[in-house]
Amino acid sequence: MADQKRDYYEVLGVGRTASDDELKKAYRKLAKQYHPDMNPGDKQAEAKFKEINEAYEVLSDKDKRAKYDQFGHAGVDPNFGAGGFGGYGDFGDFGDFGFGDILGDILGGFGGRSAQRSGPQRGESLRTGVTISFEEAAFGCEKEITLSRMESCESCHGSGCAPGTTAEVCPDCRGSGTVRVQQRMGGMAFTSSAPCTRCRGTGKIIHQPCKSCGGAGNVKKQRKISVSIPQGINDKQAISLRGQGNAGANGGPAGDLIVEVRVKPHAYFQREGTSVLYECPVSFYQAALGAELEIPTIDGKVKYTLPAGTQPGTTFRLRGKGIPELRGRGRGDQYVTVQVKVPASLNNQQREALEAFAQTMGEAAPSSGSPVKEFFSKKKKK
Ligand SMILES: [Zn+2]
Ligand SMILES: [Zn+2]
Repeated sequence: MADQKRDYYEVLGVGRTASDDELKKAYRKLAKQYHPDMNPGDKQAEAKFKEINEAYEVLSDKDKRAKYDQFGHAGVDPNFGAGGFGGYGDFGDFGDFGFGDILGDILGGFGGRSAQRSGPQRGESLRTGVTISFEEAAFGCEKEITLSRMESCESCHGSGCAPGTTAEVCPDCRGSGTVRVQQRMGGMAFTSSAPCTRCRGTGKIIHQPCKSCGGAGNVKKQRKISVSIPQGINDKQAISLRGQGNAGANGGPAGDLIVEVRVKPHAYFQREGTSVLYECPVSFYQAALGAELEIPTIDGKVKYTLPAGTQPGTTFRLRGKGIPELRGRGRGDQYVTVQVKVPASLNNQQREALEAFAQTMGEAAPSSGSPVKEFFSKKKKK
């Protein structure tokens, strides 16, 4: 069996240079596809699922991945080649893989009915997204999202049994959901635990299933959930709503709902942390003579006195007009960068006025081309 082991990269369908993100993405996709809960009783899917998990466990660990790249399976698996056991030790308990964070996120009650011991199991966490405006991200908002999730069946209160009946404790595993299995490899005996096939790991046998949920104990429900999005949140940050995910099994708590926030880009503001960046167009004569400007901010327009002789590209700061801090009391600033606009065309009167101005600067007015542009480019080179 050892020499049949597939390349981990091949298992996840990624290249050998795949980034952590690519690995994670590939893993999530496959794990969802082959998850035992999605493929009840499908042994092939189960085997595939284990293979995917094993591959991800190694490749997501920097040290293990380096060893694997260098030595292959032998580098990361002490049993490889020796007993041919191939690291498929304890199938019964996927928790041993020790990367609960991402599995907890996407799969929650990992293994669920088919792979875990009976007893309370936490429900699967769900992920969803919500798109908000730049201002909504700055000041926070309430959003309603619609999602479908598994909820505990009201008719049977999650037991899966028809009213007035109860489940029988599985005689094969005595309610534990797992059975011990002996395997012999090269003269050595290994004991491992595996999900009980008779009760499919639930530890109980339902003779009269509840009609509402078909014995599952959970039913799919569409729900509208109000999400309070805090001020200062940024694009791609997520909010976790405890207990708003799928219902747990056997009295376990519900999973969480993870709401990923996407912030729509603003027409003219940009954001960097808590700073708002804004490019303010002013005409060349405003820059030269000074002007009273009305600058848009996320609080509305504010007045700003542009000093005479402001150079293009000058940046000034509007204190406290930036984004409120997430979970803080402070607020960032708005940075306004002056963009000097040169008129694309001039009428005769304007042209004469500018030429007269140029004369006063001791420079001859150019006879052709764009006088204004040339005037400025000459000034710049000085
Ligand atoms: Zn029910
Ligand atoms: Zn059983």
